[in-house]
Amino acid sequence: MNNFGILFFSTSQLGGILDIGYTSEQSEIITDLLYVFDAKFDVDKQEVSVDYKQKYTTLFQARLKVFIEKYKSVLPSVQKLGARFGKLEQDEWFFILPPIELNTKQKYNLEEELDILNGRKSSLNEEQLQKFFGDVLDNYEIITFDLDKDKKIKIGEGQKNKRICRFCQRGISDVSFTQEAHAISEALGNKKLILNEECDNCNKFFDENIERDFIYYHDLARTMFGIKNKKNEVPEMKGIDFHFYQSNENNLSIAVVSDSISGEKSGTPESTVFRTGNKIKIQNIYKTLCKFSLSVIGSEHVSHFCETIRWIKDEKEATALPKIAVLNSYDFFTKRPELNLYLRNNNNKKLPYLVGEFRFTFYMYIFIVPFSDKDSRDFLSEEDYEDFLNCFNHVKSKEGFEYIDFSQNVERELSFNINFEKEKTDKIL
Ligand SMILES: [Zn+2]
Repeated sequence: MNNFGILFFSTSQLGGILDIGYTSEQSEIITDLLYVFDAKFDVDKQEVSVDYKQKYTTLFQARLKVFIEKYKSVLPSVQKLGARFGKLEQDEWFFILPPIELNTKQKYNLEEELDILNGRKSSLNEEQLQKFFGDVLDNYEIITFDLDKDKKIKIGEGQKNKRICRFCQRGISDVSFTQEAHAISEALGNKKLILNEECDNCNKFFDENIERDFIYYHDLARTMFGIKNKKNEVPEMKGIDFHFYQSNENNLSIAVVSDSISGEKSGTPESTVFRTGNKIKIQNIYKTLCKFSLSVIGSEHVSHFCETIRWIKDEKEATALPKIAVLNSYDFFTKRPELNLYLRNNNNKKLPYLVGEFRFTFYMYIFIVPFSDKDSRDFLSEEDYEDFLNCFNHVKSKEGFEYIDFSQNVERELSFNINFEKEKTDKIL
């Protein structure tokens, strides 16, 4: 059996590798397929050349149809090609490449080339892109997850009997894997990212300890934007002196006991403090962000975070942690939680090995995952943190980021300060 593979690359829906297995007698399939892509055959030189730049023209569609019709009975998998290409727009450009793994920078360059061919100009020009993202692309692989797909994305070993929990290193003989472990808490609206390699014990520990605090901390946003919880209900907040809930689809109601309102004696209140009665440790916000990151990273990288795992499991204490860059903005608003990772691909020890970018509603967090054995710095000093920010220039140069210390590790009651502004009050209340 022979194998022939082509990598499809587009900026829209078409992607992935086409793998065709065929016998020597069936080698005509490959020549016919190459003909679909308008390959030129030079019999004298025994060469085939095909342009990697391809366009989804009417002619291409006709050739593809003939190819599928001819081979669908011998190779049923070719039938899927019609549906896959059908996702392209008429006359859209796409690339065909050898089936190799592309790194972030290669992908980025190809996307840029496609955008130009397809007449889509990115909002930043070349010079600006180089200035904002150049250093990141030179030093990091960017790991993203396509959450638009209907299917769940399951991370790590699929077979239960082969699984090792990445947080306690135990397998099926010692622990159980009956619960479906969400890589990002389900209460934040994550239904798609599932971690296979998390045992029931660790799942329960993270749930009841660190993730619980993270969810409390985002309760206001969860209620405001109607993020459905595990039971598929929109949460409501009931604190010591207030009740905050969605009374119907688009209406939010806040009931407050009168003593907690300050401002004019009569008329609109100006500000109020909502005491939730929930006690949280602020360091658990940081731990949860790192737990999410270590849940979605490839299994092969987990061994570099033994100390980080001890820390998120409360087995290692940390008194100081790098600051987290936090942006509250509607620019990147997302109702579902989204996580991207930046994994250093070289030995530049001035830069952290793993950086995460977590977005949820109007919150955006850019954070260093601490305690990796690939790091020789702790990024606590201003100079070290500045080196990191100089690389992540798109963060540094964006206005509005605050650099917040999440290292406080004492349980405190969570309260929200609400300022009532005239314009917004009408919309919210
Ligand atoms: Zn475990």
